[in-house]
Amino acid sequence: MSLQQYSSSSGQIWKNVRGKLTPMVSLDKLTWFGVGGSSEWLFEPFDEQDLIFLLQNCPKEIPIHVLGAGSNTLVRDGGVKGITIKLNGLFTQITFESPNKIIAGAGASDAEVARFAASKEIAGLEFLIGIPGTVGGGLCMNAGANGSEFGDILERASAIDRNGIRHVVGASELKMNYRHTQTPKGWIYTSAEFIGKGADKQSIRERMRQNLAHRADAQPIGKRTGGSTFANPAGHKAWQLIEAAGCRGLRVGDAQVSDKHCNFLINNGLATASDIEALGLEVCKRVKKNSGIDLRWEIKRIGLNRDINEELVR
Ligand SMILES: Cc1cc2nc3c(=O)[nH]c(=O)nc-3n(C[C@H](O)[C@H](O)[C@H](O)COP(=O)(O)OP(=O)(O)OC[C@H]3O[C@@H](n4cnc5c(N)ncnc54)[C@H](O)[C@@H]3O)c2cc1C
Repeated sequence: MSLQQYSSSSGQIWKNVRGKLTPMVSLDKLTWFGVGGSSEWLFEPFDEQDLIFLLQNCPKEIPIHVLGAGSNTLVRDGGVKGITIKLNGLFTQITFESPNKIIAGAGASDAEVARFAASKEIAGLEFLIGIPGTVGGGLCMNAGANGSEFGDILERASAIDRNGIRHVVGASELKMNYRHTQTPKGWIYTSAEFIGKGADKQSIRERMRQNLAHRADAQPIGKRTGGSTFANPAGHKAWQLIEAAGCRGLRVGDAQVSDKHCNFLINNGLATASDIEALGLEVCKRVKKNSGIDLRWEIKRIGLNRDINEELVR
C-alpha cells in the first residue's frame, strides 16, 4: 500500500489519534549519527491508550518502527517506510516507589533515570548515567556499562504488541543476555520498573562521576557516532579485532573508524549512511580475513538500502 493510499484509507485514524502525526520527517536530526532519510510518518502518541488505538487501527501491512534516542541506530539514506514511533511527553515520566523502586517511561533518558535514582538515594542504576539512550532502547538492547546492564536492575516491563494488546512481563521472561533481549516481534516497550539498593547520595554521585570520567578517557565524546558498532564476540573484544585488522582510522567518504576507540564509527560531518554502512562492512571483511571471526552488528540498521560503493574505501 502506498503512502497516498494509506493516508486516504486511514483518515479516521488520522482524525482520532490524540498525539502528533507528522508526514515525511527527516530522521537525521533524531539519530546520533546525523544521517539518513525520512520516515513516511512520525507518530508521537499522547499516552499508552493513544498508542494502542493506532496499533489496533493501522493496517497490518504498514511497517511500524520505534525509535528511542537514535543512539544505536543507523537510518539508511533511502528513509523508512510506514510509521516511526517516538515516545515523548508522558512517556518520559519517572516516578519513585518506596523503598527502592523507580518506574520510568520508555521515552525517559537513561541519564535522567540515573540522576533521579541518585536523588532518591537508590544505588545500582549509576551505569545509566553515561548511556545516551532511552529506557525503551536500553530494554531492547540490554544496554550496559561498567559491569552492569539493564537485565540486572529490571523487575518488570510493559509493552504494547502490534495488535495493540498490553503485556506486563517480568525480567526473566525477556531472557536478556549480552546486548540482547528476546523482545517479541513488534513489541513497543512503554515503561519499566527498576529495583536498586539504598545508599547515600554522595557515594552514588561519586560513582556516576567516575563512570563519566572513564568514558571521556576511552570514547570519542562529542562526535556523531552510534557507540559500539559491533558486539564483542565470545572471548574477544571487538575493538582489539578491529585494531589487529589494521582498521583504526580507516575511512569511507567522511565516515571514519575512530582513532580513539576503534569499535566506534564516526561521521566527520558530511558522511552519508551508505558511507557509514560501507565502512562497517569493510571492517567486518578485514576482521574476518585477519582473524577468521565474524563480527555481529550491535548497531541497528534500518530503512531502505542503497548501493554501497566499495571503491570509496581507503
Ligand atoms: C556515544 C555513545 C556511547 C554509547 N555507550 C554505550 C554503552 O556504554 N553501553 C551500551 O549498551 N550502549 C551504548 N551506546 C549505544 C546506545 O546508547 C544504547 O544501545 C542505547 O540503549 C540505545 O537506546 P536508544 O533509545 O538510543 O535506542 P535507538 O537507537 O533509538 O533504538 C535501538 C533499538 O531499540 C529499539 N527501541 C527503541 N525504543 C524502543 C521501545 N520503546 N520499545 C521497543 N524497542 C525500542 C529500536 O527499535 C532499535 O531496534 C552508546 C551510544 C553512543 C552514541
